[in-house]
Amino acid sequence: MARLRGIRAGRFPAMSKKQFLLTVVMLLSAVITIFPVFQHVFAESVPVEVSGTNQPVKIPMLVVLMEYKDYKLTLKDEDWNRKIFSLPTKEEEDRRFDLFGHLGSSVNNYYKEITCGKFLFEPAVENYGTSNDGVIRVSLDVKHPLTDIRAMAQAVNHAVSNASQYIDFSRYDLDKNKSVSRMELSLVFVSAGGYGDKTGSKNRHYYYGLNLGGLRRKGYVVVTERRDDLKELYAKLTKAAGVEAKYKDFPVSVGTLVHELGHSFGSPDLYNIGHLTSLSGGQKNGSIAVFPGTKLEYTRSTPCHYGAYTMVKADFVKPVILETSGVYTVYSAGTGRYNVYKIPTKNLKEYFLIENRQFEGFDRTLGTNTNNRPLKSAGIAIWHINEAFGNNENMDKKLVDIEEASEATLGYSHIKKNRNHNPCDPFYPLKGNSEFSSNSTPNNLTYNCEPQPWKITDFSAPARVMTFKFNRL
Ligand SMILES: [Zn+2]
Repeated sequence: MARLRGIRAGRFPAMSKKQFLLTVVMLLSAVITIFPVFQHVFAESVPVEVSGTNQPVKIPMLVVLMEYKDYKLTLKDEDWNRKIFSLPTKEEEDRRFDLFGHLGSSVNNYYKEITCGKFLFEPAVENYGTSNDGVIRVSLDVKHPLTDIRAMAQAVNHAVSNASQYIDFSRYDLDKNKSVSRMELSLVFVSAGGYGDKTGSKNRHYYYGLNLGGLRRKGYVVVTERRDDLKELYAKLTKAAGVEAKYKDFPVSVGTLVHELGHSFGSPDLYNIGHLTSLSGGQKNGSIAVFPGTKLEYTRSTPCHYGAYTMVKADFVKPVILETSGVYTVYSAGTGRYNVYKIPTKNLKEYFLIENRQFEGFDRTLGTNTNNRPLKSAGIAIWHINEAFGNNENMDKKLVDIEEASEATLGYSHIKKNRNHNPCDPFYPLKGNSEFSSNSTPNNLTYNCEPQPWKITDFSAPARVMTFKFNRL
């Protein structure tokens, strides 16, 4: 108010150059927020710092470590706090390989990267051990549930009632509806034992209900503490190569955690679009990596980014609706200004999403996944969504499908040809394919075979900042 009065009176308040620039940026971003159609016009002129000046939305997370009469945990509470909540530098990541698996990164580093710093997890408030580190450890007086899913759900229930003496769950029921949603509090249960050991237990998202001290909850993530399959492989490889075995434990990877958390953000498994999946990590075909300090290769997944569908579903990005013809700019996550465009059809549940995917950060896996089919070129992804289908099980009726640019020259859809196959260079533009319309291959026809009254042309060369032309016909 003071500033406004000053302006009306013709007296500009004393402003440093920095303050002045900040005000201009704030005004510009306000204009762009109010009029999304201007987004492509102003895109080039707004400084990158705009997204960085916003405080991230913080989702509280509680990590409950569970051990049993016959299986004990090996990592410390502090390790889990760092694995989830810390933001390590690249150098720190390399140093903590033994503690954090093949990818010394953290869960928060992943979300920071894919959401351009807009969302992060923060430790839940609790008073077990080190207060407010977000980690509670529970020793259950039962044997490991092994592969029994119901018994595991029961163990989780016991763990929660045990943990509730250290945490006041009601503080997370922000809307006071007697229920704690997945955005109000994220829940991860870490079960002693290892994937690939005798417990045979798996990592998964459970859709069961939970009683959080009288409050309802639906859905939570359960992961095993370790990957014993990797431990065995490492021991075997080092022995065969006569190399000193430096690492002893292989904790569950960031890829597995972000995959299971992706379910809690509302995405089902989308395995049959391969490693370029809108649900990242934990894929059965991971990329090839090398154990640090050796030349020993192993197959592991580096989680690629969530695809546009999951990003929108999780509210990590608000899509801009494409209505009027024009040249639009699309930014990869590495620019710090990741954006998504949405083209609706007459059917509310069916629409197209457009994003820019580059081989950078976690997404570098797209171009190096030699175990599968490394993509030759990065670029613009055009996704065809139909929410009426619910999942990706039926290859002819997919919830999330990618329009493969390579279909024009191959003459067939690479994904469709072979279930669980990865797409073969799906991004635009691709040599021999520079248009997406009702006449192109692939085309913009809906599942009801209705041609759409628009076409996309003039894709710029693959880069972190790309443009395309949207033509309404
Ligand atoms: Zn899954």
